[in-house]
Amino acid sequence: MIHGKNHIGFTLSAQGKEYTSSISPIDGHALEGKFHLATDTEVEKAIALATKAFKTYQNISGEKRALFLEAIADGIEQLGDTLIRRTIEETALPEGRIKGEMGRTTGQLRMFARLIKEGSWVEAIIDTALPNRKPLPRPDIRKVLKPVGLVVVFTASNFPLAFSTAGGDTASALASGCPVIVKAHESHLGTNQLIADAIIKAAKQTHMPDGVFSSLTGKGHQPGQKLLGHPSVKSVAFTGSFTGGKALMDIAAKRDEPIPVFAEMGSVNPVLLCQDKLKSEPGQLAKILANSITLGCGQFCTKPGLLLAVESPELEKFSEELATAIQAYPATTMLNQGIWKNYSVKRNESLSVKGVNAIEPPVTNDTNQPLGHPVIAMVNGLDFLKNPKLQEEVFGPFSLIIRCQNMQELSEVAKSLKGQLAASVMGTENDLPAYKNVITELQQKVGRLIFNAAPTGVEVGHAMQHGGPFPSSSDSRFTSVGTSAVKRFVRPVAFQDMPELLLPEELKNANPLKILRQVNGEITRDRI
Ligand code: NAP
Repeated sequence: MIHGKNHIGFTLSAQGKEYTSSISPIDGHALEGKFHLATDTEVEKAIALATKAFKTYQNISGEKRALFLEAIADGIEQLGDTLIRRTIEETALPEGRIKGEMGRTTGQLRMFARLIKEGSWVEAIIDTALPNRKPLPRPDIRKVLKPVGLVVVFTASNFPLAFSTAGGDTASALASGCPVIVKAHESHLGTNQLIADAIIKAAKQTHMPDGVFSSLTGKGHQPGQKLLGHPSVKSVAFTGSFTGGKALMDIAAKRDEPIPVFAEMGSVNPVLLCQDKLKSEPGQLAKILANSITLGCGQFCTKPGLLLAVESPELEKFSEELATAIQAYPATTMLNQGIWKNYSVKRNESLSVKGVNAIEPPVTNDTNQPLGHPVIAMVNGLDFLKNPKLQEEVFGPFSLIIRCQNMQELSEVAKSLKGQLAASVMGTENDLPAYKNVITELQQKVGRLIFNAAPTGVEVGHAMQHGGPFPSSSDSRFTSVGTSAVKRFVRPVAFQDMPELLLPEELKNANPLKILRQVNGEITRDRI
């Protein structure tokens, strides 16, 4: 049932007299449900409850927190068709995509549950005392990762499930022992509410403290900025535009107590097209890239936005093949009117830059239907280097081929790139010696370097790195996908000469949790 209320811990709250609605991306009509905008009092209440909840939640064992995460996953699955139908209505994404994203969401909740059940992720490090060391004795020092406190999650428009209410940010923050307040995205308020209902039900079932999770609806940057400015908020996770992410980073940096904002702000994800690969498989390469550029109507932060190559007859042939392949993908409805308008504006701005030519011409008579028409364009390396604007993300099915005169220019183009989430190298073994320097250049710019596959498709696992140098992310040392995402919401605490009774379980001599620890430089599960 769509009730449209804010979740202030376990309480459904509707103090606000102002409402908003989710809008159908297809025809612009307001979908079922009036969603109450959270008042300042409700924001304060959610923060106070979360702050209180943290006192107990941080000490709840990994095993019990895992039960909470698993119960959320079960609850999402139980929502079944109700959730899938609502998400389709709100995003116009196809059923297969929503079902896949639902599997990814429940899968990552269970993955974090396994991580914290096992427990070794807290990086316990112990240097036992050396009382007879000369010239000075060594104290006993034991270090472990501890949760930072309340985390605010800004949910993403383009991943209504996997990067939203119970997505990777929420799952990793809850796994690490932090309470979460979600700022719902206006694009999918019904989806948000259904999932928030499931999280609260799971929290009650597994006896988590009231306030461990809240969800608030806002408009005009409220309640986001109010949350961000509150001294009890200790960290922020965000997925969205560069403008939005940078605004939040600036607000967080100006607080009396600055806090980290883990912002994933997208990128253009360059693909290097090597000569031998272009020669041997132009058709196959074109198919792979056409599929990746148009996947989800290009509304992925890992969409390949730049294709880099040295000019050659093979590149011309590939470009024609790509233009043909892209025609197999009709324009589809974008996530919302704002994103569609933004796509049209940004795409047309790129196309109006001197030297940029559309290969597959853009549709000039865009109607009011928010359809994202795929467009491929080409520009010479020199013109690209002169126009930093061409490095900006065009969020939608648009990609730009950069045709360089020679390897030297290709190298300069690679060197000029800003920080990226990912880059791909499309090459054969024969290509590698000639392109080694350019590939090394690309590695400096990215969080993930891929060989012979498109950058879309981010595996959720232990080794994944989804976060690159600024401006693709606010802090390239961390990832927002995979188990390492928990590391964003913890900080190391060292205990010196601490009596056994005061030590956290992870650091006690007997190793009661049987976790892997580093003791005097050796990795072991042994007791001390
Ligand atoms: P967005 O504008 O960055 O907004 C994301 C979230 O941040 C929303 O909840 C928004 O809430 C909040 N927000 C943004 N600016 C804020 C500010 N100054 N203060 C407080 N809160 C703020 O992203 P979007 O709405 O999803 O899409 C807009 C554009 O972002 C797209 O057209 C696309 O170009 C880009 N985008 C990129 C990616 C990617 O993965 N690369 C993903 C999504 C979108 P309120 O607006 O309600 O305050």
